[in-house]
Amino acid sequence: MTWQKHSLSRVIEQIPIGVAVTLPDGTIEYANPCLRRLLGLSAAQLPRVDLAQFRAAGAAPAREEIRQSLLAGLSWQGETQFRTDKGEARHVMESVYPLYDEAGTITHFIHFLQDIVALKYTEMLSGLAFYDSLTGLPNRNLFNDRLARAMATAQRSRSSFALLYIDIDHFKRVNDTLGHAAGDELLRQLASRLKQSLRESDTVARLGGDEFVAILEHVADARIAVRVVEQLLADCSGCYELRGSERKVTLSVGISLYPGDAGDAESLLKCADTAMYRAKAAGRNGYHLREPHCADQYRVA
Ligand code: GH3
Ligand code: MG
Repeated sequence: MTWQKHSLSRVIEQIPIGVAVTLPDGTIEYANPCLRRLLGLSAAQLPRVDLAQFRAAGAAPAREEIRQSLLAGLSWQGETQFRTDKGEARHVMESVYPLYDEAGTITHFIHFLQDIVALKYTEMLSGLAFYDSLTGLPNRNLFNDRLARAMATAQRSRSSFALLYIDIDHFKRVNDTLGHAAGDELLRQLASRLKQSLRESDTVARLGGDEFVAILEHVADARIAVRVVEQLLADCSGCYELRGSERKVTLSVGISLYPGDAGDAESLLKCADTAMYRAKAAGRNGYHLREPHCADQYRVA
């Protein structure tokens, strides 16, 4: 137990969450370094400062709510605001728990304060790292991760999946004739149609430019992949309303299958990419399966 207490207090000293232990009257008995930084408290001010004096005036209703919960022996969690001793606002997620002595009397409260701005910033950064900011679809990083997972699942369950490489035909013309903003609008609308056309469990990602990829899990053979792609072309080709102009859009799709076409992610993607270029070379507006499946299955949608 002693080692546990030591480890625990070391963790509390280091975690990026403010921790305070207060007496029932609000006096701070302990504040970890993160809390001291958050509220601008110097070690000299501790102990004997009332935590309530750092609560922002606007947070008064929360203060009463917290008091009521704690007096009833309950924990409290919610968003609230503090101010540093220099008056700077700190928007935090606070959790407070009562601590009891052996006789069951509340002796202290423990408060956990997490800086929401820092939290949101971290969320935003991880969002940027994994999602395409234009379409909201997974980006290449997240796609690579999903592809690795799909390969591991297929190996475990001895199943197959299909990989689609999807590229808009003559996308540059949309940019050149209607403007870049209309091009962006097309990418957003196509992303949403692709998602709607496929199953929720399938992954659709944007690799960049007008290139999209999709992982169709549990697709047993090429015939099933072709059926899905035909439906996808029916759903996603056609007229798009772009900033007041209507534009007919077609797509070229390359299909590869795991594990039949390639055993590693890079080759599998290359197979689908090459098949997509064959669809372009054969006149666009259609799909192509990775050779040698069936050059004859090419179809103009
Ligand atoms: P193809 O039929 O051979 O695919 O011809 P294409 O005109 O579609 O040619 P390509 O796929 O190479 O064109 C991609 C273009 O996409 C080039 C680039 O100017 C444009 N692009 C890349 N990223 C963006 C973007 O985020 N927004 C917009 N509007 N255009 C982009
Ligand atoms: Mg293109």
